[in-house]
Amino acid sequence: MDTSNGQCSCGEVHFEFTGAPINKAFCYCRSCQKLTNSDKWFGFWVPVDKFRFTKGTPETYSRLGDSGKMMHQKYCGKCSTTLAIEVEVAGFYSVAATAINGSNNDSPTMCIYASHAPKWAQFPNGVPKFDILPPEMSGDG
Ligand SMILES: [Zn+2]
Ligand SMILES: [Zn+2]
Repeated sequence: MDTSNGQCSCGEVHFEFTGAPINKAFCYCRSCQKLTNSDKWFGFWVPVDKFRFTKGTPETYSRLGDSGKMMHQKYCGKCSTTLAIEVEVAGFYSVAATAINGSNNDSPTMCIYASHAPKWAQFPNGVPKFDILPPEMSGDG
């Protein structure tokens, strides 16, 4: 099976995952805006059992998601790069696209929480846009 890997800016924390992500989403929620100081977070959704940290131990910041279940943000304690957000309600990690090696040519498959975006947000052309989530999904990230 294909293995992808990545790391934070300083290289203290490394991760890997196997298989193709189940989704590649731009999330425009308020938490993602604050996390990135931009309009969105680009996350590759990887089931928890396919993802692991291979070097270093990330710090964890846990917050309550819209779903009522916790979101666990995993970040490097040295350089503060957020590497992944564990979305408890849905059993996946939203892995930071920018931290994944070789992901520069990937594109998002959907935009979520678009109704929470700031006025200056940028939306890609031709990518489905949802006010919150597609009807069949729950949880954010
Ligand atoms: Zn680091
Ligand atoms: Zn978000």
